[in-house]
Amino acid sequence: MKTTFLTKAGLTVVLLLLTYGLANARETRVISPDGKLVVVISSENGLPTYQVIYKDIPFLRKSPLGLNTDIGDFTRDLSLDSTINLQKITDHYQLPNIKKSNVHYEASEGVFTFLKKGKAVFDVIFRVSNNDVAFRYKVYPQGERLACVIHQELTGFAMPDSTTTFLCPQSQTMVGFARTMPSYEMSYTPDAPTGQNGIGNGYTFPCLFRLNGTGWVLISETGVRSNYCGSRLIGHANGLYSIGFPMEGENNGNGTVTPGISLPGYTPWRTLTLGESLKPIVETTIPFDVLEPFYEASKKYEYGRGSWSWIIGMDESTNFEEQKRYIDFSEAMGYESVLVDALWDTQIGRDKIAELAQYGAGKNVALFLWYNSNGYWNDAPQSPRGIMDNPATRRKEMAWMKSIGIRGIKVDFFGGDKQVTLKLYEDILYDANDYGLLVIFHGCTLPRGWERMFPNYASSEAVRASENLHFAQENCDAEAFNACLHPFIRNTIGSMDFGGSTLNKYYNSKNSGEMWGGRRITSDVFALATAVLFQSGVQHFAMAPNNLTDAPKWAVDFMKDIPSLWDEVQFIDGYPGKYVVIARRNAGKWYVAGVSAQKGLLKLKLNLPMIQPGEECLQYADDETLSGKTTLMKMNKKQQLEVTIPENGGFVLVNE
Ligand code: CA
Repeated sequence: MKTTFLTKAGLTVVLLLLTYGLANARETRVISPDGKLVVVISSENGLPTYQVIYKDIPFLRKSPLGLNTDIGDFTRDLSLDSTINLQKITDHYQLPNIKKSNVHYEASEGVFTFLKKGKAVFDVIFRVSNNDVAFRYKVYPQGERLACVIHQELTGFAMPDSTTTFLCPQSQTMVGFARTMPSYEMSYTPDAPTGQNGIGNGYTFPCLFRLNGTGWVLISETGVRSNYCGSRLIGHANGLYSIGFPMEGENNGNGTVTPGISLPGYTPWRTLTLGESLKPIVETTIPFDVLEPFYEASKKYEYGRGSWSWIIGMDESTNFEEQKRYIDFSEAMGYESVLVDALWDTQIGRDKIAELAQYGAGKNVALFLWYNSNGYWNDAPQSPRGIMDNPATRRKEMAWMKSIGIRGIKVDFFGGDKQVTLKLYEDILYDANDYGLLVIFHGCTLPRGWERMFPNYASSEAVRASENLHFAQENCDAEAFNACLHPFIRNTIGSMDFGGSTLNKYYNSKNSGEMWGGRRITSDVFALATAVLFQSGVQHFAMAPNNLTDAPKWAVDFMKDIPSLWDEVQFIDGYPGKYVVIARRNAGKWYVAGVSAQKGLLKLKLNLPMIQPGEECLQYADDETLSGKTTLMKMNKKQQLEVTIPENGGFVLVNE
């Protein structure tokens, strides 16, 4: 046994190398710093497996590992090398635009080498922190081969019996608006049994599972860029889920579904977050903990809140006068930006955009500009098109944006999860950083640790977002149900550009039932609560200038003060799809927010240790008719609060 110290790029690693004396070690383990979470790695009959145990209860049954590649079948006839490298990992990092501004990460790492015919073929690297497991493969060169194609991953997750699922199916390819799917916009089914496979294509990450009576598991992946494809989970019989690569039809059939890696090389980190309650899942930072920045920020990026005419006014609102009105509105709200959506190139023009940018600058309101990612991958007709898909036009455009002071871009309608598309995301981000631009993605894949990898990454849609509230009443009717899912699933692994919190009654420019556009059935307090529940460093809220006069003053005032950056998050209570209560802190101010999708009145007694006894708070609450009001209250000695939330209603508590 020997101890050495390594230092690399600000990360101090204490390496504790333990050489196990057992020549035929077939089973070994990695144990979390607190001793409660254990991963058991084994090789039996040549098949590598792992198992996850929390407080002596199996959270994953023995699950398969292994890769089938063009340089060899590394799924069977493997043996586990007797030398196991164990080390303690600690890292401290700051990120302003995730759920927690200051992160301390501690984990036990174990590196397990698997051999075929006595030669190392891959390592499996496990990092086990108190409520998270992250693992990836390191694939070794074979002979002179320094490049490899992964045909298939056996990597699986075998859920215990009686597990129920909260999953979002992967869609068919080249369907939906202008053949733009899949784009992570399908609807979740809660409390469903295992043993299914969505609509035949598996499920998009992240995937939430409830173990009967013992806890919760969230499975996802992180660290994916052009180095791999985005993966999904394929459901099998007996509660087994395995890694699936993209579908042939994605990206209009162009590009491979099998990722290629350079050797020696790594696969992305696959992550599990687990515990007895949903607390570790809401609070996890594992998507960021195991990564390092891919490049340095070219400047200090400014996040913030903004307004956005398109969600209420649609395409025709992308005109000069309306955008000016929204700049005035953002100024009145104290917001930092306006997002100018599709068709600005033809309906406003570049010269007038420069004029708008200048007008905004005089009011401390910066502009984001929308772009179509196309390209050859779908039929989305909205312009500007054919700019973001190649470096020559993209960089020229970005130089123009920099020259007129544009803050960022929103790029829409991507082609799926193939490695070739992941490369496009990476290239857009990298180029945008050269010109000091933030990047928001829409019609897109899930971000996979991108806040840490790409310092100018702002946010992604990858959710059935607010546009659907405009498009169809059924989405308005399901708004509360969906809001009770996202804080536990989609939004816990990365920024979510939902574009919500409207105070309009109707999703149209007249705010009237006489015009087309969904009718909001949620309360005003609900709208405020989702501004806390949904996390994104850049928020473009669906508020409209008319809300200054037609919405309650307390609601507008709340939306003026709401931050988009948070220092801390705490899970308080909830059940996916039914209700959710979460607390977020910005500097010294706590926002405790909850919404309910349950029939009738939900009565909760909440423990709020973050609010001190006697501390004055402003409470926003709904009565049975979803009519909101504010009350000043003082926290009691027990630091408990009783709240009643009606269906489609909410509450928020803010300490003063
Ligand atoms: Ca969309």
